[in-house]
Amino acid sequence: MRLSQGQLTLLEYCPRRFQHSILESLSVPSSPTLLAAQQWGDRFHLLMQQREMGLPIDPVLAHDDELQTCVSRLQAAAPDLFDSTDESWRQSEHERSFVLNGYWFTVVYDLLRQWNAASSPGDRAEIIDWKTYLKPRTAKFLRREWQTRLYLYSLVETTDYRPEQISMTYWFVRVTDPEAPQPTPQKVCLPYSDQAHQATHRQLTQLTQQFTALLEGGMPFPQLPIDSQKCADCPFAVRCPYRPSQSSICACSSGKIAPSTGQTCRQMPQSMQVEKSIQYQSVPFLFLPGPSWIQATGQASTQSATPSHTLVTIV
Ligand code: SF4
Repeated sequence: MRLSQGQLTLLEYCPRRFQHSILESLSVPSSPTLLAAQQWGDRFHLLMQQREMGLPIDPVLAHDDELQTCVSRLQAAAPDLFDSTDESWRQSEHERSFVLNGYWFTVVYDLLRQWNAASSPGDRAEIIDWKTYLKPRTAKFLRREWQTRLYLYSLVETTDYRPEQISMTYWFVRVTDPEAPQPTPQKVCLPYSDQAHQATHRQLTQLTQQFTALLEGGMPFPQLPIDSQKCADCPFAVRCPYRPSQSSICACSSGKIAPSTGQTCRQMPQSMQVEKSIQYQSVPFLFLPGPSWIQATGQASTQSATPSHTLVTIV
């Protein structure tokens, strides 16, 4: 079975959510804002790949002012990124794979740069990752991300590099500073070490062993503790018994909100019902047929205190 960094993140975040998303292939529609951000990120990645392949990018830039600005700001902030003179090898969308504990791991680097022993940095490699969020992440946050751990681990496991010979650099290319009118690219460089490599090996081994045990157990994957904050905005709360969720709103006239039990408010114990005084500003919605219930994911807006009579605008 294949596992990606995103799947490791999900498995660690909530095994039940992993079950719904990956094993049962249940998907949740992205909000229009998130979708637009993803599409912009895809365009940027494609453009950088096209540039690395020696294909012209000016015709693309001519039709996208923001893309053009971000690329030119990046070129000005990091000219060495675009200068391969001292490098022995570089490739965009470079893929590497390894097997651990019976699972197949694949990583795809946005850009991999290598230098040989005769070059000024010496025998080393650098993984580059483009990030198109509007706000940069801290080094502390990024070090804990499975993407960082898996990408660095993979390079050591599939080459002759020692951990201290490699690094990973995140470039946040779309960061906007309230003081500056133009995007200001920022980078976070993360060196690697033998200690970090051993730690990732232990974590990967442990997580994959737990995963195997869950698969072999044949039972639903564990849920988070009942009071977990992570459940509050989980799109799968409606499938998790007794998880309070704003994703489920009763369609009957009682004005009660279902705490994701899958029951109608008439079947539900009164103690499990949530009074209609709860205010909704932005309620995730996807209408699915159900007995007396509207289950909801996606995005809708309302300001009414009476859900049973709410005018809902799907956006
Ligand atoms: S509601 Fe909570 S326990 Fe259930 S899938 Fe979502 S995060 Fe996991």
